[in-house]
Amino acid sequence: MLIMYGWGNKLKRDVPMGVSVCGGCRSFSHHYLGRLVFRVHICYIPVFWRTKGYYVFCDNCEGGQEISKEQYRELKEIYRMFTNKKLLTDCYHYAVQISQGLELNDHNVDYVLSQLQQKYPIQHQVMIDQYRGLVSDIMRFQIQPQQA
Ligand SMILES: [Zn+2]
Repeated sequence: MLIMYGWGNKLKRDVPMGVSVCGGCRSFSHHYLGRLVFRVHICYIPVFWRTKGYYVFCDNCEGGQEISKEQYRELKEIYRMFTNKKLLTDCYHYAVQISQGLELNDHNVDYVLSQLQQKYPIQHQVMIDQYRGLVSDIMRFQIQPQQA
């Protein structure tokens, strides 16, 4: 009998964190809170797994930053407020749309951020800082809305 047996590391995407600029591949892409998991599987069914590390990483290039288990738990608590990937994508497109033609300065960034906060659950300071950075990057790189 042939038993399909294998093992390896896999990056598990646990909690979507929204779009931000990746320091690795330099794209605006979704980021995730996740774990690097070592798995053993038989016939594609995992029979053993162990968490090897906790990360915030880019969906596009899988590059990221290792964080502690405590940080992972704290961030998970914050980001579980806003995990709908379609809404996270909408939020990014909305930010691009209302940033059109605005110069990068604190006043404009605060204006766009307040518009986003009216539509999306961006309340925790960690998320406010993240979205302030995102809006600044959109203005800095003069990102244009995608034509449908
Ligand atoms: Zn990347």
